[in-house]
Amino acid sequence: MIAAVFEQGSGFSVCDVPIPEIGPDDLLVRVEASAICGTDLRVVKNGQRKLTNGDRVVLGHEFTGVVEKAGARQAAHFPEGVRIGVAPNIGCGRCRMCAMALPNMCPDYRAYGINIDGAHAEYVRVVGDSIQQGSVMRLPEGVSPEAAALIEPLSCVVNGSRSVRIGLGDRVVIFGAGPIGLFHVMLARNAGASLAAVVEAMPHRLEAAAAFGADLCIDAREGDVVERILAATDGEGADAAITACSVASVQQQALELLAPLGRVCLFGGLPKGASAAPLDTNLIHYKNLVVTGMTGGAPADFRCALNLTVSGRIDVTRVISHRYPIAEVGAAYDAALRGEGMKIVLEGSA
Ligand SMILES: [Zn+2]
Ligand SMILES: [Zn+2]
Repeated sequence: MIAAVFEQGSGFSVCDVPIPEIGPDDLLVRVEASAICGTDLRVVKNGQRKLTNGDRVVLGHEFTGVVEKAGARQAAHFPEGVRIGVAPNIGCGRCRMCAMALPNMCPDYRAYGINIDGAHAEYVRVVGDSIQQGSVMRLPEGVSPEAAALIEPLSCVVNGSRSVRIGLGDRVVIFGAGPIGLFHVMLARNAGASLAAVVEAMPHRLEAAAAFGADLCIDAREGDVVERILAATDGEGADAAITACSVASVQQQALELLAPLGRVCLFGGLPKGASAAPLDTNLIHYKNLVVTGMTGGAPADFRCALNLTVSGRIDVTRVISHRYPIAEVGAAYDAALRGEGMKIVLEGSA
C-alpha cells in the first residue's frame, strides 16, 4: 500500500509498504480520510525526539476509517465495516497523568504518526492499547469521513478553549487564523463571546477569519495590536486570549491586552530557543492573570469534539482548502510544506 513515511535522519518519502499485520487486540482500519497537521510538517522538517536515527514511521494522526478486520478479542465490539475515530495519544497506563485519563500528558506517550505507524496510508493498525484506554470511538451515521478526520484537531482546540473558560459576553482575542485559530473563533462564538477578535499577518487568513465570524480582524503588520484591542473594549482589555501561532512576541502582547483577571492560553508552542523571548511577568502579577498552556487532547476532549461535529454545532469541514487522493500524498505534502491554503485532507481509496 502507499504510505507517507518519515525516516529519522533521512527525511520524507512516499513508499510502498506492506499492509499492517494485526494481533488479537488490534484493528486493521481502511483509512477513509486523514488530514495533514502542522505536527506532521514539523516532523518532516525537524525530525521527532521520540525517534532514533533510522527509525521509520508512517505519518498521520488525524484520521478516520472503517474496520477492515478486527482482532479476535475486538470483533464483537468493533465488527467489520464500523467507522471509527481515534484520539491518537496512547499513555503508558501506569503514571499519574494516565491515572487521570490524560494520555496526552503522559511522559511516555506513544502516538500514531509520531512513533507508531499513522494513517497517511491506505490502512492503519489501531493498536489494542488505544481501545483499552477509551481512545477509539464508533462514529454515528451521518458524519462524513472528512469531518471525522478533523475531530482530532478540534479536540485539541476544545482542550485549549476550555483552559481559558470562555463565558457569556467575554471578549476574546485569538492570535493566528490558521485552521486551529479558526476553530478557536468558532468555539469562542459558540461559548457566547461578545467579541472574537483575530490577529493575523497573512491577508488570505485575515479574510478567512472574517468569513468564520471574527468580529474584528487585525492585520498584525499594521499599527499597534494592543491599542486596537483596548479601543475595541472601551479601554478595558480582553477577558481571554489564545495564541494559536508559534510567534514568541505575541505571548507578551497577549499579556498586555488582557483586562485584570484575564486568562491566556499559550496554545502554540515555540520553536526551540525562541522561548528566550522576555515576558513581563509583572503584568501577570499586578493584573492577576491566569496563564495556561496545553498540548494535544484527551479522549474526553475527543468525545466533546465528536459531539460538536455530529450535532452540526461546529462544521469542521469549513477549514478544508485542498483535497488529494491518497495516491497523491506526495503532492499533498508538497502543498502543505509550501504553506498553501488551510487544511489539506487526504481521501482514501474506496
Ligand atoms: Zn494534529
Ligand atoms: Zn503514562
